[in-house]
Amino acid sequence: MYINGAWVDAQSGETFEVTNPANGEVIGHMPAGGAPDAEAAVEAAHQAFKTWSNTTAYQRADLLYRAWQLMTERAGDLAQLMTTEQGKPLRASRNEVNYGADFLRWYAEEAKRVAGEWLPSSRADQRFLVLKQPVGVVAAITPWNYPISMLTRKMGPALAAGCTLVLKAAEATPLCAKAIFEIFHDAGFPPGVVNLVTALDPKPIGEVFTSDPRVAKLTFTGSTAVGSMLAGQAAGNLKRVSVELGGHAPFIVFPDADPVHAAKGAAALKFLNSGQACISPNRLYVHTSGADAFIATLTERVGKVKAGNGMSEGVGVGPLVNEAAVAKVARQVDDARDKGAAIPVGGSRLSDGDFAAGHFYAPTLVTGVTDDMVIYREETFGPVAPVIVYDDVDSVLDQANDTHYGLAAYVYTQNINTAFRAFEGLRFGIVGINDVNPTSASAPFGGMGDSGLGREGGHEGIAEYLEVKLGGFSI
Ligand code: NAD
Repeated sequence: MYINGAWVDAQSGETFEVTNPANGEVIGHMPAGGAPDAEAAVEAAHQAFKTWSNTTAYQRADLLYRAWQLMTERAGDLAQLMTTEQGKPLRASRNEVNYGADFLRWYAEEAKRVAGEWLPSSRADQRFLVLKQPVGVVAAITPWNYPISMLTRKMGPALAAGCTLVLKAAEATPLCAKAIFEIFHDAGFPPGVVNLVTALDPKPIGEVFTSDPRVAKLTFTGSTAVGSMLAGQAAGNLKRVSVELGGHAPFIVFPDADPVHAAKGAAALKFLNSGQACISPNRLYVHTSGADAFIATLTERVGKVKAGNGMSEGVGVGPLVNEAAVAKVARQVDDARDKGAAIPVGGSRLSDGDFAAGHFYAPTLVTGVTDDMVIYREETFGPVAPVIVYDDVDSVLDQANDTHYGLAAYVYTQNINTAFRAFEGLRFGIVGINDVNPTSASAPFGGMGDSGLGREGGHEGIAEYLEVKLGGFSI
């Protein structure tokens, strides 16, 4: 772990294994930290805040630029590590490293744009000054599916704002986290400004993060179940909270869209990271008029997606994170099949030959999906594309909104009125209009409803780490 500028073991001396999900090989060991380690990290961040919060935005920006440079220089090694530890194909790992690095560069720039306001008053002898200041020590918890970009998406804005932080990485991907903290160390961030704890059992760490009076803010990315529980604990202690949670994205193909183009977009999007993305489409609604062409193109595309070890050339879908993830996907597909869905491609786990020691599920297309199927409501987090054919254009937005999640939605249309109506009518934080990649460091990312609170990226992302202070001046 990285605490107060030094690499340390867990106080208990315990460690845990890190494995490659493609073949089960042990690829490293990391400290199994506990509450005392989390407390030591919080204390380091608390002490460092006194000086770090008083540095200039220019000083903080220079260090963030340096970290971005180092990340860019090490991109090849980081991508290899990510594929080995997390499983996504090497090309996708490279993309994630670039996306992750961009949060450091963008917030190096944004650090210098944090500004207050000078406001008039109704009293002639009074002026108001609005000052933005860092909230304090930030506790961050991150998931395994994007094991680098989910860290920098929090670290970039928190550090730019003048906060110090303690981060607990996911137990499946602590080696990627370690590599990122090596970069912050080498970039010259002062001791205590960034701290990393790792753990096999995250619960005691979560308890410190949500109850320690020295922590001002909790930022979490992960499942809705854990995020809402931690947000509740933290809110009870009046900490600031941002949570980026799960999703169940609709993907709507309107009658005026080109169904072949839309199907190509859906295939490219659905199998990213083996479907283990919070913005992965989970319900593909296609109008009857384009259904045959859409399903035919998707059948052909899904049939060509090659599953395997992400290190191998041509692999489009890597392993799932663990056996429980494979079992969840299998349960959803079996339920759909039992309730009358057709499965023209895939529909089973892959366990022969090279697949035997990994956690693989075949790239799968399910058609004839109905709202009584589990897959229609539950996040899949696997390589399964569920298709629903609809007739009534007027009610498709209501169908798309029929979920307690509200993260991402996608729309294919060539009609500007339909595009605006869908953009305004969908109750989701992110809407891609003929666009399957509506994310960037410069844009606010986040969800409505059970998909979370707060935004990451963009101007909104740094505001999550700033207090607003009002000064009244009588002159
Ligand atoms: P998870 O909630 O199981 O774990 C996320 C993190 O929380 C991990 O670091 C884990 O160790 C930690 N954690 C788990 N239980 C904890 C506890 N009791 N106390 C403290 N920490 C605890 O989720 P996951 O399976 O790692 O990630 C997948 C989920 O993340 C999916 O639902 C996905 O949609 C979501 N996700 C959301 C976004 C987003 O930006 N909205 C991005 C990526 C992933």
